[in-house]
Amino acid sequence: MAIQRTFSIIKPDATQRNLTGAINAKFEAAGLRIVAQKRIKLTKEQAGVFYAVHKERPFYDELCDFMASAPIVVQVLEGEDAIAKNREVMGATNPAEAAEGTIRKEFALSIGENSVHGSDGEDTAKEEIAYFFSGLELVG
Ligand code: ATP
Ligand code: MG
Repeated sequence: MAIQRTFSIIKPDATQRNLTGAINAKFEAAGLRIVAQKRIKLTKEQAGVFYAVHKERPFYDELCDFMASAPIVVQVLEGEDAIAKNREVMGATNPAEAAEGTIRKEFALSIGENSVHGSDGEDTAKEEIAYFFSGLELVG
């Protein structure tokens, strides 16, 4: 497996409960390195662009409101098989179905307020990283 980069968000429910350090400890323990990171606050419109793939889904409006409700931490994780590894550490979308020890099992409040986002493939990882970071901000 090759070294990959993937895009990660610590969502509003987690930043509001002071969980950024606990969440990033899990990524680092799994061998993922944080090679870029910043704390920002999205507008609802920016959240809508980011999650545009879900715009026909019934939860889209609620999801955009949630993602714009408080600051988020956007970051790039690098490591061996990073895209799949990140999603493994995150756990299933619905915390009720997430495996023991995963971030969503330990920290998520609900299927919507589920603490973290992670890219789901190589193309989305590239697009999502480019949406939030310039090349100069990817420092390794
Ligand atoms: P993410 O894209 O945030 O990493 P995911 O890939 O596990 O999550 P998706 O199916 O892409 O899951 O859904 C995107 C996000 O939309 C979820 O993480 C969650 O915040 C929200 N969401 C998904 N399904 C529901 C639902 N049934 N009700 C409310 N919110 C939902
Ligand atoms: Mg997704």
